[in-house]
Amino acid sequence: MGVLQSNGRTIFIFVWEKIKREGVYGVTIKRIDQIDLKGKRVFIRVDFNVPLNEKNEITDDTRITLSLPTIRFALEAGGKVMVASHLGRPKGERDSKYSLAPVAERLSQLLERRVPLAPDCIGEEVLRLIEVMKEGEILLLENLRFHPEEEKNDEAFSRELASLCEVYINDAFGAAHRAHASTEGMTRYVRTVAAGFLMMKEIGALEKALIHPEKPYVAILGGAKVSDKIGVIESLLDRVDTLLIGGGMAYTFLKGKGIEVGRSLVEEDQIEFSVQLLKRGEGRIKLLLPIDHIAAEKMDPQASRKIVRNDSIPQNWICLDIGPETVKVFSEEIEKAKTLFWNGPMGVFEMEPFSQGTYAIARAVANSSAFSIVGGGDSIAAVRKAGVAEKIGHLSTGGGASLEFIEGKRLPGIEALRKD
Ligand code: AMP
Repeated sequence: MGVLQSNGRTIFIFVWEKIKREGVYGVTIKRIDQIDLKGKRVFIRVDFNVPLNEKNEITDDTRITLSLPTIRFALEAGGKVMVASHLGRPKGERDSKYSLAPVAERLSQLLERRVPLAPDCIGEEVLRLIEVMKEGEILLLENLRFHPEEEKNDEAFSRELASLCEVYINDAFGAAHRAHASTEGMTRYVRTVAAGFLMMKEIGALEKALIHPEKPYVAILGGAKVSDKIGVIESLLDRVDTLLIGGGMAYTFLKGKGIEVGRSLVEEDQIEFSVQLLKRGEGRIKLLLPIDHIAAEKMDPQASRKIVRNDSIPQNWICLDIGPETVKVFSEEIEKAKTLFWNGPMGVFEMEPFSQGTYAIARAVANSSAFSIVGGGDSIAAVRKAGVAEKIGHLSTGGGASLEFIEGKRLPGIEALRKD
């Protein structure tokens, strides 16, 4: 930074302005286009953990397409590019069901060039393949999780991965909350490390909500369980102006307020905690729970169903979606927001009769003029199905990683990039 000769105050203002523009990480992490890749062996950690059907065909290639800009850039810059990912849970054993072969095929189509698949991600044969690579060539490494050492962040394995390359790029935001050999360990042994474009895009968007959100900041949480989202709820209580809670997790809160919720999903061991959270939120933020519901006799799209209010949930029925009054109240809050964060569906949206609440919230988020972030596979699927994905400010690919980021936790895969 040229301003370093100036006095402390100038530096402070300069850095602060830059942080406001680019976020903390934008200042402390190098991006792939800020380093020289020509002729270098470049290891790109991506998140190609795509869904496969029983015939081992890719059913959604979004994760591959999102990292194409980073891969293309590295190839065009003259790198000898090796791409590495995990896929599924092979439990540390070689299993052809989890081979990256279908990914190699799809990547070849998308890049319009053949992408060879290495037989492994480390070892003699891989080294030999890399040795003969020319500038602008690509090699896909086989599933990192065929080695149990990957998830254990084993040092020897990390060193082996590091020995493959001169430059390390991480574009796998979805895996950044895990300290694994390929996301954290190996960065200790590679001199030049940087973030890919997808990683920087994710960080930039989430930092906007974490560090200087424009107010009112409204968060919407849904999904099955309170226990999965304890950290994020606690942290949001300190940051947001309004917290809207729907989905299965709402019933633990409602029960805590003494409402009879029938056979709706309740985590008995979280009731006390949810009561405390409600108390902590009182007077500080607006915390809203559903006031009406779509209740059904059982969790079945064919079952009888009706709209019920909080005071009339039938004893043996299950609430499977938020009702129209709740949609209205939640949508009004969403409309007032300048920053929006949404994670988790409002109901069992996989079944059509219980999907309307989630889609209505998806539309409200899309129609709002706020900067909106939608995180988590289900919520992203909902905005896509509602046909409003292009109106969302940022679709965050990593569900777990985005929740931990919003919570204010430091993610090991991102911290590891700070070193240069
Ligand atoms: P999560 O992975 O925690 O975001 O939870 C997503 C799951 O929550 C989805 O599969 C939904 O079907 C489920 N879910 C949402 N609302 C309800 C509800 N009212 N009762 C039971 N499950 C629900």
